Amino acid sequence: MTDTATNEQLAVATPQKNQLDERGLLRYGKMLIDGQWVDAVSGQTFAAIYPGTGATIANVASGDSADVALAAQAARRAFDSGPWPKMNGSERAKLLWKVADLMEQNIEELAELETLNNGKPLLESLRVDLPQSIACFRYFAGWSGKVMGQTIEPEARANALCYTLREPVGVCGQIIPWNFPIQMAAWKIAPALACGNTVVIKPAEQTSLSILRLGELMMEAGLPNGVVNIITGFGATAGAALVEHPEVDKIAFTGSVEVGKAIMRSAANTLKKVTLELGGKSPNIVFADSNLELAAKYALSGIFFNQGQMCTAGSRIMIERSARDQFMEVLTARAKKMTVGDPLNMKTRMGSLISQEQMERVLGYIEKGKQAGAALVAGGERVGSQGYFVQPTVFDEVQHEMEIAQEEIFGPVASVITFEDVNDALRIANGTRFGLAAGIWTNDIKKALTFAKNVHAGTVWVNTYNMTDNALPFGGYKESGIGRELGPAALEMYTHSKTVWVELG
Ligand code: NAP
Ligand code: MG
Repeated sequence: MTDTATNEQLAVATPQKNQLDERGLLRYGKMLIDGQWVDAVSGQTFAAIYPGTGATIANVASGDSADVALAAQAARRAFDSGPWPKMNGSERAKLLWKVADLMEQNIEELAELETLNNGKPLLESLRVDLPQSIACFRYFAGWSGKVMGQTIEPEARANALCYTLREPVGVCGQIIPWNFPIQMAAWKIAPALACGNTVVIKPAEQTSLSILRLGELMMEAGLPNGVVNIITGFGATAGAALVEHPEVDKIAFTGSVEVGKAIMRSAANTLKKVTLELGGKSPNIVFADSNLELAAKYALSGIFFNQGQMCTAGSRIMIERSARDQFMEVLTARAKKMTVGDPLNMKTRMGSLISQEQMERVLGYIEKGKQAGAALVAGGERVGSQGYFVQPTVFDEVQHEMEIAQEEIFGPVASVITFEDVNDALRIANGTRFGLAAGIWTNDIKKALTFAKNVHAGTVWVNTYNMTDNALPFGGYKESGIGRELGPAALEMYTHSKTVWVELG
């Protein structure tokens, strides 16, 4: 059908037991609570899988409400009576910087762990995920002690001095997904700590290993006991218990819309502060007046980076009708040249999906696309019979109303939609329940800026795609979330504003 990667081309190396020992993988199985490495109270563990082969590479502690209670109490003590929130900002900054230094010293081990537990290409773990995570700790180290309130003159009374203080929220429960495990941990832990909060973090059940290693490095850096606690386990048990726990002041979550909604409902019982970073169905819109070669290249990396398992994935590639044929020729030719490969091989650019379940979900959407009448022009199939590899897949002639154009697939599946003009592009772009990101390709500055102003998205890229930076706020409109991560905006999410009125009259 297509000439994208075939079964014969895929040979995935199996990590051997002694290699796992060397990488320290077999020592996991404990969680970090109050500075100690402990078993789950229940004594239960579950398997961590290498998605490249489906092999078990470690056993991880299965935390539940009993472990969450211990961790929440430890974080509470560390916040209420420990040194952390009262420490000078510059001292906290030194510790965060030290964490970053230790990550850098162990970057190869951390990158291997990330690839072994997630299936993403080692090259990307090493060159993208880890450097960005390290930079995130340094960026927020820079903010520590520099989070300032304001002096405000009251509107109705002259004889008073009024000002605001920004104070840490307290114990932060953080629940993160499997697509960028260590990076999501950095986005959440670094700003929380910079502001003087304490943390209980729960990694996704599939990807605990790099976060456990990060926990070891944080303790080595000298973080006081209880400031960061790591509970490994499942969403329905450990995750839900964290959201319910009365000693937790705030929940920061990244993951699916459905779980985000459930978390918000549950958090209402204790009125926790909630920030949510959820999914997307982001449009990447190519106008006829743009550089079509460049737009096609970015359109493919925009959807296929991280095997398409990305909240900002440019999963709707939109092309103006007058340039459609020319653009599709370039796009399809390039897509057919992309192959999946052994995640541990440094030449590989696309690896395995996270799990059997996710692979089946993605293949299910591909089937739905075919049945709805979209034209499959590249990929469409599983690759190999071990691991969870799926060909980079492109559907042409997708209608805006089809399920593959409306729902987040979270895999390597692009839907190409043709549009007529600017208004049509905007109508289609804004016509989903999501609003995370959007890309626009044009050489007309007026068109670009008008579009950027009118599209419902937390991030807009003009003549590029998928650029994030630790200094720039990130988050969603509509059902893509609540609140912002990164940049100065993150500091607001991890602090309260306190108003002080001093009567001078
Ligand atoms: P998910 O269930 O939303 O998982 C995200 C995190 O929430 C995980 O740590 C998960 O734990 C936890 N969780 C699950 N149920 C919970 C509950 N009731 N209370 C508290 N925490 C809970 O995502 P998924 O099941 O791994 O993936 C399903 C779909 O979600 C994907 O196909 C994709 O569409 C979307 N997704 C989006 C993002 C994103 O970056 N926006 C990331 C991942 C997934 P467990 O892992 O133990 O279940
Ligand atoms: Mg899950």
